[in-house]
Amino acid sequence: MNRSKVALVRCETYDPDAVNQAVHKGLDLIGGTSSLVKSGERIVMKPNVLYGTNPDKGVCTHPSVFRAVGKLLQGCGARVSYGDSPSFAGAELHMKRAGLKQLADEMGIELADFDKGRTVSHKDALLIKSFVLANGVLDSDGLVNLPKLKTHPLVRLTGAVKNQFGCVPGFLKSQYHVKLADPYDFAAMLVDLNTLARPRFCVMDGIVAMEGNGPRSGKLRKLNVLLFSTDPVALDATACRIIFLDPEVVTTSKLGEKAGLGVYRSENIELVGDSLESFICRDFDAIRTPQEHCSQGRVKTFVKNRVCERPVIDEAKCTSCGSCVKMCPVDPKALDWRKSDEKKPPGYNYDRCIRCYCCQESCPEGAISAKSTVLGRLFFRA
Ligand code: SF4
Ligand code: SF4
Repeated sequence: MNRSKVALVRCETYDPDAVNQAVHKGLDLIGGTSSLVKSGERIVMKPNVLYGTNPDKGVCTHPSVFRAVGKLLQGCGARVSYGDSPSFAGAELHMKRAGLKQLADEMGIELADFDKGRTVSHKDALLIKSFVLANGVLDSDGLVNLPKLKTHPLVRLTGAVKNQFGCVPGFLKSQYHVKLADPYDFAAMLVDLNTLARPRFCVMDGIVAMEGNGPRSGKLRKLNVLLFSTDPVALDATACRIIFLDPEVVTTSKLGEKAGLGVYRSENIELVGDSLESFICRDFDAIRTPQEHCSQGRVKTFVKNRVCERPVIDEAKCTSCGSCVKMCPVDPKALDWRKSDEKKPPGYNYDRCIRCYCCQESCPEGAISAKSTVLGRLFFRA
């Protein structure tokens, strides 16, 4: 099996000059931008813009990382664009809120169309043989993935592999959640998406990471690291080792290796740059138990409700805004107003809930988090 290279570069600030230097160094360590991108190619950058917020909130890929990578790509003669498809509304508004639109305009980097897409087949897929991909991805020659290091209750880590989910336009994403209720089927879909739109290279923003109730409402944690690789699986596995999380707990690791997308075992990863040990954060708050199969069916639902984690609303934080109810993709909804009383926090029907955590991602107050059950805690000794 071929070894994949992952570069780690220390960077303790988002100061643009410091990030430029670190990005230059990291990309040189994995072969140099000019070996990965050719002059005249149309390259689309895919930052993580789950929900456009001020860069200080740590939800989105930081503008300094975006700027540094964009500059290098332009320096290679590439025609650079960027895009993402937040689940909540059109991309442009979120790009503005994240501080990327203004920057991209100044740099002459065009916003690609991630709001609409076209159907493409994927005959070598593990599971999903046909995808609707964003026009901005299909109209480019290559994609550069710019994930942010954050926790996620469904896939455990939202890194490089999960970041590609934003290549599926808007509300189509929720259909994948509904069709692929089992987390391992969902992970196979993410892997398929990555083998279809395989990134040229990935640069992960781990300068300030998010722990706990990620990917939107967790706590910020400085890790002072940028990670670089052409292999998104190896990149995620290395990020896991930094936050002291077993890569096998991340649902896309083994499936990514099976699909030939990349490798996750440490013996197959060549680390270059600053030492991994210097970044390891043993008390990083993440879910460390493996995902359970959570598909539907009477017996499975019975087991799921007793063993699997589930979303829970902290009523003291809830403002009854209704965003979570709107985002719940199942029909009938698994989260709804109680007796149509929209003044009280909504309530869950866990039998219907597929644990997609769209409600948790959508909550502006951070009122929803994944909680393990008593039996689940005993079972996994978490
Ligand atoms: S209640 Fe939340 S986790 Fe459950 S299906 Fe709806 S959005 Fe997904
Ligand atoms: S999104 Fe959050 S604040 Fe809004 S109703 Fe749901 S739990 Fe309450």
